Amino acid sequence: MATHADAQELAALRSLSATIGRDPHMTQAAGGNTSLKAGDTLWIKASGTWLKDALAEDIMVPVDTVSLLKAVEGRDPAADRPQIFAIEALNTRKLRPSIETTVHALMPQRIVLHVHCVDTISLAVQTDCEDEAARRLGGVEWAYVPYFRPGLPLAQGIAERLRPGVDVLILGNHGLVVAAETVAGAQALLRRVNALLARPPRQVAQPDIVALLKLAGETGYRLPADIEAHAVAIDPESRRMAVGGSLYPDHVIFLGNGSVVARSGEAVADVIHRLDTRPAAILFPGLGVLMRGDAGASADAMIRCLADVTARVDVTARLNYLTDAENDQLMNWDAERYRQKLNAAI
Ligand SMILES: [Zn+2]
Repeated sequence: MATHADAQELAALRSLSATIGRDPHMTQAAGGNTSLKAGDTLWIKASGTWLKDALAEDIMVPVDTVSLLKAVEGRDPAADRPQIFAIEALNTRKLRPSIETTVHALMPQRIVLHVHCVDTISLAVQTDCEDEAARRLGGVEWAYVPYFRPGLPLAQGIAERLRPGVDVLILGNHGLVVAAETVAGAQALLRRVNALLARPPRQVAQPDIVALLKLAGETGYRLPADIEAHAVAIDPESRRMAVGGSLYPDHVIFLGNGSVVARSGEAVADVIHRLDTRPAAILFPGLGVLMRGDAGASADAMIRCLADVTARVDVTARLNYLTDAENDQLMNWDAERYRQKLNAAI
């Protein structure tokens, strides 16, 4: 840390990060990340760590931005492995920088917040996202970046669309980036953009817990951690959107490709038999959701996220789903396996 001013700002960033991390409408599980630039050093959240732990633990990793940006510019595959650019002498916990480090390095502002805000994602999965965001974000210097796999492809997508003065990015099928010179400025911008993009969720009936537990039988399936998660199975429009496929990367990483819906009359055991696999989550139309007994906290956070996102999507909108190739790319990616492994240990 170069100066007292940097140290103070980093402390403020850690506090804001913990606040953002505790809000399931802003970030879920290990998703989202924050950073601060101190000279040529970028302090960024470590891969697999949770923003909500930013105050209690040291989750920020120092990265050499000059060589990382050179790698992005030269389309060097090394840019997809930001750990190569970690400043090991200052990296006391030997954590890997976030796989989204390049997003932060590309923004020229000192403070960058990247969140998986459900209001943004609900818009970012609609094919009309760019037009709708333009209608809502009057007075904001923003850019739309269509979906690219996080890492080098996303960095290149951002580099192509970044204009001087832009301090807000909407990432298609992914989330939001806001940037400012101070933590307070970034927090205010995040609040402003979120308010402009916010849409009320559709209201749904209560889950039928008794019926769900009966359907679980002796399979070890359990209720989700958050009662809000059931909405994705109860609301027919949300369910239709979920059944269509995978809408954003962290869904694929922690819940698998798309969503599994039980057919009429099927209990958990019937679904397992039909699919010959034990899905992390099963949607029971009109009743609610059941989770595999050993599904982790990240899976629970992502099923809640799916309910929160789909409840806000315009029911008349056409949706962009990740393609089979994009799903496969996420499932078979070394950096994501590392993140999953680190999460399993939490
Ligand atoms: Zn992200």
